[in-house]
Amino acid sequence: MSPEEFRRLGHELIDRIADYRAGVASLPAMSQVKPGAIRAALPKAAPENAEPFEAVFADLDRLIVPGLSHFNHPGFFGYFPCNGELSSVLGDYLSTGLGALGLTWQSAPALTELEEVVADWMRQLVGLPETFKGVIQDTASTSTLVALISAREKASDFSLAHGGLAGLDAPLIVYGSAHAHSSVDKAALLAGFGRDNLRHIETDAAYAIRPEALEAAIRADLAEGRKPAAVVASAGTTGVTAFDPIAEIAPIAAKYDLWLHVDAAMAGSAMILPEMRRLWAGVEHADSLVFNPHKWLGAAFDCSLYYVRDPQHLMRVMGTNPSYLRTDADAEVTTYRDWGVPLGRRFRALKLWCLLRAEGAEALRARLRRDLDNARWLAGEAARAPQWRVVAPVPLQTVCLRHEPPGLEGEALDRHTLAWAERINHSGRAYVTPAILDGRWMVRVSIGALPTTRADVEAFWALAQEAVVIRT
Ligand SMILES: *Cc1c(COP(=O)(O)O)cnc(C)c1O
Repeated sequence: MSPEEFRRLGHELIDRIADYRAGVASLPAMSQVKPGAIRAALPKAAPENAEPFEAVFADLDRLIVPGLSHFNHPGFFGYFPCNGELSSVLGDYLSTGLGALGLTWQSAPALTELEEVVADWMRQLVGLPETFKGVIQDTASTSTLVALISAREKASDFSLAHGGLAGLDAPLIVYGSAHAHSSVDKAALLAGFGRDNLRHIETDAAYAIRPEALEAAIRADLAEGRKPAAVVASAGTTGVTAFDPIAEIAPIAAKYDLWLHVDAAMAGSAMILPEMRRLWAGVEHADSLVFNPHKWLGAAFDCSLYYVRDPQHLMRVMGTNPSYLRTDADAEVTTYRDWGVPLGRRFRALKLWCLLRAEGAEALRARLRRDLDNARWLAGEAARAPQWRVVAPVPLQTVCLRHEPPGLEGEALDRHTLAWAERINHSGRAYVTPAILDGRWMVRVSIGALPTTRADVEAFWALAQEAVVIRT
């Protein structure tokens, strides 16, 4: 495609995306397609001859957009907010269009230095100490994997330089909340700890780690000759946004020489609000921390910030230095390939930079406060309504609900919960994702899509009340 063709089609593409965003409220929030339908509608093999690009546009309307659930829909209350602000989308286009590739500082000096700058801007915005240095990864799953590999290498005195985990006398142990995200388990397994060496610590009434249960588990492992290596504190669990008490976990981590990783993938964005920082008090003691600006904050997916207190350790674990990647500048610059898994890195800093410059921190704070207000409003309505129960505290923007008609218990109650969630999702007007809490299904209402106003939350509440009516 020539630059001139690109100019013509690109203008049309931008128009289409702008129309999509402006009109998204009229689309079903959750995709209504049947499994396999999209694949069946597509050719089995790639075209031998060029097609006009207009044919791609036609398939977008016909197949692709109907095959999406819309995270930027005003009735989107599923999973967690994954807000791609259009300003940030422009940054993402730039990243792709400029075709920059970070291999070394020299391969794209602006890529490295802008990443250093925006990682530090964000550090200041969420109130982390100056000693924290940041890098942009693709997702929290990757960041947590890097954290647990770093923890493994600290606890094993650099086993990777010798016999690896197989050369150790005692198994290394990782601790996390019973409510931690599945990516924590996955990272521990991929980092080689093994499921037998992963401890899910019991939680309190607010679904936060009980520090005394953590310490008891550590002591039990020590007594049996195992080596405690890392603890992952969740700052905002996925199910109910519970906050593990970092200020109480940190002294335990220090006492037993454990790596402390904080998973704030979703809730980290909230820390641009000074009034929310009490929720992660003690975070300055973390060895590593992840949060995803591509969630609530508004950076276009994918953009996950990973901060560490000791970049030297990270570079020692992740570093490689083959001859073809060495340059004269290496001693003076940051070499981000040594801060994570991939060698080739995208210019992700652009989308964060564009977001922050085009919106400004104050507007981002105002939007998050709007969402927190809306969550408090919904929780208040539900708490007052007969037969409804808010089943977990609401520290942030996720409200966990159950409708409990008299006489309905156990699996019958589960069937009712899943049925009303499905009615909402099939209405197309809103999208929620149910989850299991204490062995029973409940419905998470995660507020914070870009276009969601109070009126949309009110409409959701009316829809939910209709959806729970049991039809006979
Ligand atoms: C979303 C989320 C994750 C996983 O995020 P990815 O970036 O998709 O890997 C991990 N932990 C928590 C607490 C989350 O909310």
